[in-house]
Amino acid sequence: MSILPIIEYPDRLLRKKAKPVTNFDKSLTKLVEDMVNTLHDSQGIGLAANQIGVLLRIIVLQMPDENYPRVFINPEIIDRDGNRKVVEGCLSVPGYHGYVFRSLWVKAVGLNNKLEYTKLYADGLLAQALEHETDHLNGIMYFDHLKKHEDLIKNPSEQE
Ligand SMILES: [Zn+2]
Repeated sequence: MSILPIIEYPDRLLRKKAKPVTNFDKSLTKLVEDMVNTLHDSQGIGLAANQIGVLLRIIVLQMPDENYPRVFINPEIIDRDGNRKVVEGCLSVPGYHGYVFRSLWVKAVGLNNKLEYTKLYADGLLAQALEHETDHLNGIMYFDHLKKHEDLIKNPSEQE
């Protein structure tokens, strides 16, 4: 397994729409493993393939209170509802966080790491992460959802 470099905004690949995975071969298994490894190394909670420069619809998630990663290949959010203000950051936008609105819950479908079709109902942080990472696959950054410019804040430790 490898740790892959995470690309940072404004790299143009972050603004591209990723393509559905259609080749389910060993290279996909390796890519997913590398993404999980990269996510663990970064100590983030989610990573989309765009962020390692691969325009395929793959996301990996690791919730702080769970001891296994979640893999979604060709994920799709099929339903969502509610609205809550949350604080959010992104591995591709280091040094910043921001306040955005996310759904209270989402229903998502996709293939897991065993390529089984999976349905998931999620709320809280998992729902937020699913929205954040599926946004990446569509070229959307979390700060696109800011209501006002001031909602993007530089992290205190990095202020001069
Ligand atoms: Zn992100």
